Amino acid sequence: MFENFKPLPVDSILSLVKAFREDPRDGKIDLGVGVYKNADGLTPVMRAVKAAEKKLWEQEDSKSYVALAGDPAFSDAMIGLVLGESVARGSIAAAATPGGTGAIRQAFELVKLANANARVFVSNPTWPNHTSILDYLGMEYVAYRYFDAETRGVDFDGMMADLKDVKAGDIVLLHGCCHNPTGANLNLTQWQAVVDLLNETGAIPMIDIAYQGFGDGLEEDAAAARLVASSVPECLIAASCSKNFGIYRERTGILMAVSADASQQVLNQQTLAFLNRQNFSFPPDHGARLVTMVLSDAELCADWKAELEEVRLGMLGLREQLAGELQRLSGSDRFGFLAQHRGMFSRLGTTPDMVEKLKTEHGIYMVGDSRMNIAGLNAQSVPILAKAIIDVGV
Ligand code: PLP
Repeated sequence: MFENFKPLPVDSILSLVKAFREDPRDGKIDLGVGVYKNADGLTPVMRAVKAAEKKLWEQEDSKSYVALAGDPAFSDAMIGLVLGESVARGSIAAAATPGGTGAIRQAFELVKLANANARVFVSNPTWPNHTSILDYLGMEYVAYRYFDAETRGVDFDGMMADLKDVKAGDIVLLHGCCHNPTGANLNLTQWQAVVDLLNETGAIPMIDIAYQGFGDGLEEDAAAARLVASSVPECLIAASCSKNFGIYRERTGILMAVSADASQQVLNQQTLAFLNRQNFSFPPDHGARLVTMVLSDAELCADWKAELEEVRLGMLGLREQLAGELQRLSGSDRFGFLAQHRGMFSRLGTTPDMVEKLKTEHGIYMVGDSRMNIAGLNAQSVPILAKAIIDVGV
């Protein structure tokens, strides 16, 4: 049977990682893969996570199964982190998943189970895994305009015009904050307009929130998810702990289903557990337990928040430095969008040729669509990148 497999396209980001590793040049800069890196190029274990791990090692006396939807304490802690008090707890069903990707996969399967005809509206561009999972599941999706190639901000008029085509029961996938790959985000007035459109049409929002705390702050980054969840009858939220807790390899995420009332919540909770059972049975526990410990211990939580804030401000500082450097070199404000974008990524908005030139002539690696990982920079490499961007004629 194995002879039936066809070669799969190589993952463009992973092949970029390989090319970077094999590049012998000193001073090469990796802005490719979507992992946070500090000024030394390292992805550290966060202090509070390390402390929780130590405590867990001392206290944990069993590795037996927990529950199909994971530990309810994890769900409570994550619902608190993402939704705060915006929605009554009794209307939220939640299940732990292997990472944010697992939550997205389970969300799509849930949609398919509920309504085989639902179409999923995705931003153009979006995180490529969204569409590849939809393809794999054989689900129909429709792209809506999102990125304005001129301003490098959101093409809000285009987005709203395209979303006018949604029908009741369709799903609108929205990035809760720190849009990947563009870095361009809606403001709260625009979010309100999206909410109004969802309510007029009966389409159901699905929020992917993978970078809470990387944009404008933990609370600020959750504001859109809270607004949506508290304003529509039903929504799905897929949250990842990979980035903001720095626990990428632990595979920690959660899917939340918000419904209009508590009786529906019971059925939703059963369905989430059922879907976990079919796909992987019990979700990974280690990362979820660490997150629960960090969020429920005042001292650990304060330390985590402080470190996350250092990470956020560090990336913001790099953005401002890069925008400033480019303003100086170009004598124009046309790169100001880099300081407006939020999160780990910015789409430079240039051609694949220019991206190739940055790689071959300057040893600067970014994804072909010109997505840069801002965390791949440091104070010393920002001027080098700025000069290269001007040199190749972006
Ligand atoms: N959603 C978006 C937009 C992402 O960028 C990512 C990670 O890159 C994820 C979800 C899920 O990440 P993970 O599965 O590692 O938690």
